[in-house]
Amino acid sequence: MFENKERTDIAELGEFGLIKHLTDSFKVKHESSIKGIGDDAAVMNFDGKEVLISTDLLLEGIHFDLSYVPLMHLGWKAVQVNLSDIYAMNGMPTQITVSIGLSSKFPLEAVEEIYKGIQLACDKFNIDLIGGDTSSSKQGLVISVTSIGYAEKGTVCYRNGAQEGDLVCVSGDLGGAYVGLQILEREKQIFLENPNVQPDLEGKDYIIERQLKPEGRRDIVDLLEQMKILPTAMIDVSDGLASEVLHICQQSDKGVTLYEEKIPIDPMTYQTARELGLDPTVCALNGGEDYELLFTIKQADYDKLKHDVDISIIGHITEKNSGCKMISKSNVVHELKAQGWNAFKL
Ligand code: ADP
Ligand code: MG
Repeated sequence: MFENKERTDIAELGEFGLIKHLTDSFKVKHESSIKGIGDDAAVMNFDGKEVLISTDLLLEGIHFDLSYVPLMHLGWKAVQVNLSDIYAMNGMPTQITVSIGLSSKFPLEAVEEIYKGIQLACDKFNIDLIGGDTSSSKQGLVISVTSIGYAEKGTVCYRNGAQEGDLVCVSGDLGGAYVGLQILEREKQIFLENPNVQPDLEGKDYIIERQLKPEGRRDIVDLLEQMKILPTAMIDVSDGLASEVLHICQQSDKGVTLYEEKIPIDPMTYQTARELGLDPTVCALNGGEDYELLFTIKQADYDKLKHDVDISIIGHITEKNSGCKMISKSNVVHELKAQGWNAFKL
């Protein structure tokens, strides 16, 4: 990826030089960040609020493929997926730490790209980078991000609070990141067979962006607060709608009925899935990586959000014995399963 560009050997800088070089331009924004990079530990003060912490580990070849993921996007996405977990608790992330393991194939310029993406995400989402760790790696690139945030007392949303009769809501649209990945995989195969062929991503911008440049739904957390809605349960859609709905049901000890026709799917996602011979609904249910927020609300809150075009009401919570079901467009009842491409023959 960096063959034709300038290559500075990381060894020239040394570990401390590298850390300074990468992090010097990050300025601390929050009062809660008392001490950031530069000591043995960061120090924070959240003044009586609930403190939220979440960590993700991303491994080259398992979670990302550098043959089609630009390094800047990788830095951006590593931060976003982690912030998304704090939003899913109805919290506001304020700090992150970033740890990286670098294989010898990475020159300084490559790591700079990753940090550009990290910085863009930090600036856009108002986050302080307050620490991390840096090491060499024998097994490719490793990135681990930890985010720290807060919520006012009594406002944290867990997965286990859904009650019978609650409405199931989801932000944005689903399945796009998965269908985007299928396009990237297809173009990679074509490239491997004939390196002279340029990737054909025309007209697929939205779903490619959904895959490469996801955004955590901070705006939905803000919106819920403005609307004075405290979801009874919430989770982010990282593994696919079916899996996340089942997490809420299992932890809340409830059942659910979803309506296929209510599941929000973007027209480009829909059309591309069809072109690839995939069922768009299955992509939404099992695809994952959408980083939308799935939450349940009391029926009394329905009027507050019924006109919001960015939130879809896709079903309702039932008693446990009714099971976890989806009513298809043709009115057939399907049992919801986490994963399994054969589970839904729609
Ligand atoms: P230690 O020896 O205590 O682990 P380091 O020398 O690894 O300390 O780190 C020095 C400082 O730089 C610490 O504040 C640490 O959190 C920060 N740091 C190290 N690596 C990174 C990184 N990849 N990104 C951001 N901050 C980092
Ligand atoms: Mg260290």
